[in-house]
Order: sequence, then structure tokens, then C-alpha cells
Amino acid sequence: MSGGLVTAAYIVAAILFIFSLAGLSKHETSRQGNIYGMTGMAIALLATILGPDSSNVGWIIVAMVIGGAIGVYLARKVEMTEMPELVAILHSFVGLAAVLVGFNSYLDHGAVPMDSVLENIHLTEVFLGVFIGAVTFTGSVVAFGKLRGIISSKPLALPHRHKMNLAALVVSVLLMVLFVSTDSVGLQVFCLLIMTVIALAFGWHLVASIGGADMPVVVSMLNSYSGWAAAAAGFMLSNDLLIVTGALVGSSGAILSFIMCKAMNRSFFSVIAGGFGTDGSSTGDAEEMGEYREASAEDVAELLKNSSSVIITPGYGMAVAQAQYPVHDITAKLRARGIKVRFGIHPVAGRLPGHMNVLLAEAKVPYDIVLEMDEINDDFTDTDTVLVIGANDTVNPAAQEDPRSPIAGMPVLEVWKAQNVIVFKRSMNTGYAGVQNPLFFKENTQMLFGDAKASVENILRAL
Ligand code: NDP
Repeated sequence: MSGGLVTAAYIVAAILFIFSLAGLSKHETSRQGNIYGMTGMAIALLATILGPDSSNVGWIIVAMVIGGAIGVYLARKVEMTEMPELVAILHSFVGLAAVLVGFNSYLDHGAVPMDSVLENIHLTEVFLGVFIGAVTFTGSVVAFGKLRGIISSKPLALPHRHKMNLAALVVSVLLMVLFVSTDSVGLQVFCLLIMTVIALAFGWHLVASIGGADMPVVVSMLNSYSGWAAAAAGFMLSNDLLIVTGALVGSSGAILSFIMCKAMNRSFFSVIAGGFGTDGSSTGDAEEMGEYREASAEDVAELLKNSSSVIITPGYGMAVAQAQYPVHDITAKLRARGIKVRFGIHPVAGRLPGHMNVLLAEAKVPYDIVLEMDEINDDFTDTDTVLVIGANDTVNPAAQEDPRSPIAGMPVLEVWKAQNVIVFKRSMNTGYAGVQNPLFFKENTQMLFGDAKASVENILRAL
């Protein structure tokens, strides 16, 4: 394939990526968006592999077959609740790739003589690419660990953590100046290696310092970092399409992070700076909160029969228990009795944006009774019974009542304003943010312990 043809193919692929993003921005066109993205990527891969800059195509194909097989296997096996983990670990690969491309580009370029300006530009690209890649790599590994539950979701609050972050940045900048200005290869290698170690630790610390409730923003932020890492790799490899694609991913990830911060009433700067400016020290103590009351499935069935309006607020536990099908059945049964049933969906309920909407749609719950938090929050006062099915952080009044809570200021579903609240969960354990929930101890709340699916089925039988 000639260079001209490769450039033309790259332009087509870049346009398809832009169409893909446009398609993905709406539910109805998202499937089409995916198809545009896949087509664009297929064209990009073919053009790159068959282009004049590639050699050893046989090896590339072997690597692609192995990587593709692992990808297909993982994507088929992954549960919906594990999706954010998969995305996080994939971001880490982009980061690692940028680090490796950076080292390779540094080692490789020595053979080709360059003029000094070009040389400086190239060295700066290498340094920045390795830095962004290393931060993305360890940050994504920690995000993966937190989402999988291998690493605690509580923020790691090391003393002087913000000063350490600042020091890491300042030292890295000084190392970059030295790396670009010195002629000694030994000193350059030293600067690159020390910066890589600092960047790896910095990425780890940045994400470890962020609390569980802010993880949705962290995942989209790492998405953005992985885009910039890819763009940096594009500069090093002089590959225009990689620069364009990286910039598209980087900026769309940054816009998504900004939108999510707004929805969760968080400062964008505070989250990207590793929880800068948050206290987050008060996680609540169950013993200080008092007594809680327990209900049986029969009690709840009786309560529901005597209610005229019911709101169901599902959360991560409904996804784990796969309770959406009996939840659909109970909804149908109550509606057949003339009871008004609606759903209240928090923007970060579950473990990925839109998680609850997808589950309810899967169980064929009618769209028109599934409302967003802003649409339903004023209606709890006039509601007889709220069923909190496997939700915790998203219905936690501490967000409004305790300014020292890690979730302080996050908008929540104000379920406690209803006449009766039933909380479906298995124990008194905290939710993802690791914060105790005062809702469980309110006078109008009763706990229904057990797996959410079994509990809903028991109520269904009692009805
Ligand atoms: P939470 O994660 O706060 O709580 C879920 C609750 O479900 C737990 O308290 C757990 O209690 C219960 N549970 C788990 N399994 C079962 C089961 N089988 N049956 C019954 N109950 C069960 O859920 P929310 O949806 O309210 O909040 C989501 C949290 O996740 C937020 O903090 C959000 O920031 C974060 N997050 C969201 C992402 C997103 O994009 N949506 C991405 C990453 C994080 P018990 O163990 O006692 O049963």
C-alpha cells in the first residue's frame, strides 16, 4: 500500500471515529456508533499493517490473533457488573503501551541523526509519553483493584499526600529539563528511568487517594488519560491517525468526567488531583446511629397492599442478585391492583452509567415509569412506600447531613422523606464508598435482610 493510500485510509478512519462518538451519544443510535467505530478501526489496522512503515507482518498477525482471541474470550465471559473493571484494565494496557513505545522510540532514534530542534522535540515527546503512560498504567491498575474489591474502596489518606503529588510533578519537570538538555546518554537514561518510577508511584497514589463514591469519575478520567497516552505514542511514532484518535478519546473522556463531576456535585479539579480539598474523614459508626428495625417478606407484602403509591430505587445489589425479573413481576402485580409504581434511578447507581436502566429494560419494565433522580426526587414526600433494592450510597442521607462524609454534597435519592422505607440487603455492611448509612436507623425505615432476588420472590408469593 502506498503512503498516499494509507493517508486516505487514515482520513476515512478518523471520520468514522467522529461518527462513532456522535452515534454513541444517544441511546437509539449507539449500535450504529459501535459499527462506525469498528469499521474505522478495521480500516486503520489494515492501512497500518499493509502500509510502507510496517515490516515483519507475519509476527504482527500472530500477535493480533493471540490478542484478539484473549479479547473475544474476555468480552464474552464478562458479567455486566464487571464491565467497569474490564474497561479499567484495558486503559492500563494503553498506558503500558505508551511507556513501551516511549522507551523504544528513545532507544531507536539514536541511529538516525537529527538536527537539534527536532531532537529536543522528540525527547520531549518521549518524556511526556512515558510519563502519561506510566500514570495511566498504575492508576488504571488501582482502579481495576478497587472496582474488583481487591483494593479497599476507601480513600488512602497518606499524610502530606498533596505535597507528595506536587513534589512528584516538580521533580519530573526538572528531570525533563535535564533529559532534554544533556548530551550524556547515561544521564538521559537515568532521568527517564527515575521519572518512570516516580510516574508509576504518582499514578498509583493519585487513584488510591480517591474514595469509592468518586470511582465513576475516575474511570472516565483514566479513559481520558489513556487517550492522551495514545496521542503521545502517535507523536513518537509519527502516526497521524493515532494522534487524532488519542485526542478524540482524551477530550471526550475529559468532557464525560466533567459532566459526571457536575452530576455528582464534585469539583473536577479536586477529583483529578486525587481528592484534593476533600476531608472525607467521617465514615459514620453504626453503633452511634442507634437501633434498626427488621421486617419480614410478609410484612412488606402487607405494607405494599395498603399503599397507593410505591417508588422502587434499585442499586448495585439488584444487579448482583439479578433481581430485575421478579422486580418486574412485582411491579406488574402491584400495578394490576391499581397501585402507582415508579422507579427512581440515580445517575451512578450500580457500577456503570445507565446500569439500572439496562437491567430494567432487559426485564421489560415499561420505560415511562422509570424516572431519573431529578424527575422523581420531589415526589418522595407523597409516597407511601419506597423499596430500596440493593442500593446504599445513592440513598445515603449523610451526603446532605454530614459535611465531613466522603460523599458530602453528592446528590442522592431522598427516599427517607416517604412514609415507609424498606431496605433490601444481606447485612448491615456499607456500600461501595465504605460509608455507614443513617437511613437504616431512621424511624420510618425497616430492613429486609437476604439476597434481593429471594426477598422479592418471597414478597411476590405473599402477595
Ligand atoms: P452500593 O454499592 O452503595 O451498595 C450496594 C448494596 O447492595 C450494598 O450495601 C450491599 O449490601 C447490597 N447487596 C449486594 N449484593 C446483594 C444481594 N445479592 N442482595 C441484596 N443486596 C445486595 O450501591 P449503589 O448502587 O447505591 O451505589 C453505587 C456506588 O458505586 C456509588 O458509590 C458509586 O459512586 C459507585 N460506582 C458507580 C459507578 C457507576 O458508573 N455507576 C462506577 C463505579 C463505582 P450487603 O452486602 O449488606 O448485601
